[in-house]
Amino acid sequence: MALRLYNTVSKEKELFEPVNPGKVGIYVCGPTVYKPSHIGHAVGPVIFDALKKYLTFKGYQVTLVVNITDVDDKMIIEAANRGISVAELADEVSASYFEAMNLLGVDSIDMFPRATAHIEDMFDLIRKLMAKDAAYAVDGDVWFDVSKCRDYGKLSHRKTDDQLSGTRKLASESKRNPGDFALWKKAQPDEIGWQSPWGYGRPGWHIECSAMSMKILGETFDIHGGGMDLVFPHHENEIAQSETATGCVAAKYWMHNGLTRVKTKSASGEWQNEKMSKSLGNVKTLKELFVEYDPKLVRFFLLSTHYRRPIDFSAEALDAVQKGMMNLLRTIERVGRITKTDIFKLGCDLSLLESKAQDRDREMVKEAGQAQLKYLEALDDDFNTAGALAVLFQYSTMLNRYIDHNQLEGSCDDNARIVLAQLGAMITSLGRVIGVLTGPLNSAANDNNGLVDQLMQIFIELRAQARKDKNWALADAIRDKLKAVAISIEDRPEGAVWQQTK
Ligand SMILES: [Zn+2]
Repeated sequence: MALRLYNTVSKEKELFEPVNPGKVGIYVCGPTVYKPSHIGHAVGPVIFDALKKYLTFKGYQVTLVVNITDVDDKMIIEAANRGISVAELADEVSASYFEAMNLLGVDSIDMFPRATAHIEDMFDLIRKLMAKDAAYAVDGDVWFDVSKCRDYGKLSHRKTDDQLSGTRKLASESKRNPGDFALWKKAQPDEIGWQSPWGYGRPGWHIECSAMSMKILGETFDIHGGGMDLVFPHHENEIAQSETATGCVAAKYWMHNGLTRVKTKSASGEWQNEKMSKSLGNVKTLKELFVEYDPKLVRFFLLSTHYRRPIDFSAEALDAVQKGMMNLLRTIERVGRITKTDIFKLGCDLSLLESKAQDRDREMVKEAGQAQLKYLEALDDDFNTAGALAVLFQYSTMLNRYIDHNQLEGSCDDNARIVLAQLGAMITSLGRVIGVLTGPLNSAANDNNGLVDQLMQIFIELRAQARKDKNWALADAIRDKLKAVAISIEDRPEGAVWQQTK
């Protein structure tokens, strides 16, 4: 199987062949750390962490870099409002960002370079561009001359006229072309800044990423990622800077993820989708979101949509995905209970499965092999995690039918236990490939700080007492009334357990 990835430059799915065989370098544009992270900040890291896990599974040695923009106009304003320094603000917001990433299972990022630690690298790059007459200084500002980049627009597929009209209003008298953008911006002496060969100032946003990606991953690396909103001007300008300076292709594959949209009510009362942004008052921070929803669910949710599609973010959408995820988790839990095995920790070995399978198991074992194949095929097709997860849903349904059909709940000998555990581990081991289904959901995060579970324990105890007192009418009434609100109680040797049935 061969991985194909959609490249924004060619607008086609291309066969993935890294620059250096066996090794992959990925650079993803990270956050500007001025406000606590919201769901929009989680999309890129979750997708590219999952992609790294998949590439690692395929045998590549992967380096994943996510930058932190820690100096920026927004940061200066926020720090001033709060009466703290820009560095203090950056430290505080980065710390909460790292914590949120950890909770989301984003644990494969190798480096988080900070812009302020790479100022010298930016100087070097600007000097190279000046030597090629592609950059010029005017009164303390340094500009990139877009007319010196022949294929400017190759990523965003904009014609030069579009670029000019889009930027005309901002055009400065001192620029050679209206589309020229800042590499270095003059700053006032009392503002945060650095002494540069062109005067006191701050770097432009685009030059940060060109300098850091090149420094860490080399002049040509494999994958450059980021949100679709970064295609123009940020990534177009990165390409212009890097490729004009080195004469090489900056990144072989440019991958852009869809943005989060949030449902809001318009003035006329209709629901509409809007791009996620801080200016929308109803956007929760990740920290707030994790009080209500387990981060494992949030990760699963973000990977339930193909990465190039927009993600409609709402409580309803999260709840819908949670139901699907709970079905998978219930299957895993059921297999674990019957086989007395921790399926989350078990690897699936198809040859062991085939050697232990009896006649009645053959069909299901074949399904397991098929599920694995289809799952990996979906990931190879432009990293279609949504398609891959759909394979798991189908497989889980078949596995439940197999358990029911063979009445494995009632009797399960050692051999049947090994086969069933392996069949269950197919779900968890495939989930692990993209870092999902790594453990049960924390119910406390899903139902108002565990209140529902606490209330349910009271009902279960009352029902147990009624049964003990041989008050069957009351015991049945409790069960039936719960059933009416879609809660089922199942009596098991270890005690009664409850679950939501819709
Ligand atoms: Zn960037």
